[in-house]
Amino acid sequence: MIRMKRALITGIFGQDGAYLARSLLRSGYRVFGGDLNTAPEYYSNLKVLKADKDVTAFKLDLTDSKSIIKALKKSGPDEVYNLAGQSSVSLSFKKPGLTKAINADGVNKLLGAVLSECPEARIFQASSAEIFAGLKKGAVRESDKPRTISPYGESKLMAQKHLERCRDKYGLFACSGILFNHESPLRGLGFVTRKISRGAAAIKLGLADKVVLGNINARRDWGFAGDYVEAMRLMLKRERPEDFVIATGKSHSVRDFIEAAFGCTGEKLVWKGTGVKEKGLSGKTGKVIVEISEEFYRPADTGALIGNPGKAKKELGWEPKTDFRTMAGMMVEADLKSMKAGKR
Ligand code: GDP
Repeated sequence: MIRMKRALITGIFGQDGAYLARSLLRSGYRVFGGDLNTAPEYYSNLKVLKADKDVTAFKLDLTDSKSIIKALKKSGPDEVYNLAGQSSVSLSFKKPGLTKAINADGVNKLLGAVLSECPEARIFQASSAEIFAGLKKGAVRESDKPRTISPYGESKLMAQKHLERCRDKYGLFACSGILFNHESPLRGLGFVTRKISRGAAAIKLGLADKVVLGNINARRDWGFAGDYVEAMRLMLKRERPEDFVIATGKSHSVRDFIEAAFGCTGEKLVWKGTGVKEKGLSGKTGKVIVEISEEFYRPADTGALIGNPGKAKKELGWEPKTDFRTMAGMMVEADLKSMKAGKR
């Protein structure tokens, strides 16, 4: 009998964890997951993707080596995907210590535990475009020198150093995916795309009057999470462990996303004013439906972040399949559907 491949996903209840679990299950993997809490309500993302029944989840806290070792012993993984972390850049300015403890020291603990428990396992580490946030240039590549501007970016860079040490010194098969922003209907409500898709849906259904945002001229390279988890898997299938930029190579502003999302509800915005005084008015009613507030500005924000996915295309055969507008449409449709059903 062929032994089923086994994967352990840390942070399985998050957006990427759910898409990755579904993808691995479809390929016949036995999927184990760890997360801080395993109460039934945390399965909601997996439920949306109909992947909740077939995963085995247990408590896992990256700041606690014992819980990591337990998870590795229980799952006996061939592949470990580290998707757990403190994922908010803005929260990292308020909680830099916690961000480092989870995103950097936690990764070090995980790598150490894999070395002692299952050194043959292959490890994917979710790194981030934020390690390049301080670079003022066009699309960044793997070979660019990182420059961070947030405690979040710094924590991901530290994790990268731990990973390189374990790969170079101890021969671990460990790879970093330098993931640019990736979104989906499962994106957390604190991220700007989901805040907008939900806002547009709520306004359409008469459940809200407006959505209040920060810097809408910020630009990002936004892809679809469902596409990005496929790149993670391809990275672990190679002969040698290497790091890859996973991005679309296209940049859009928050304003572009607002226009795309509201466009899906039949709204065409009219912009008036500048800076924090700028407002987005409904083309139909003239009412203010988008407002700006200082509250949502960051102490430091990267002007534009674009990734060059050339190496991923060449060596993994990976390309993003879902474009910006399609993704905005998926998010608004999902929010309209769940709000109509009185859920979420
Ligand atoms: P991040 O790139 O991981 O920080 O992803 P976010 O979705 O949180 O933020 C993307 C960009 O949207 C950043 O440049 C923010 O400054 C900008 N932005 C503008 N308004 C908001 C807002 O109301 N909430 C969030 N989260 N971001 C906002």
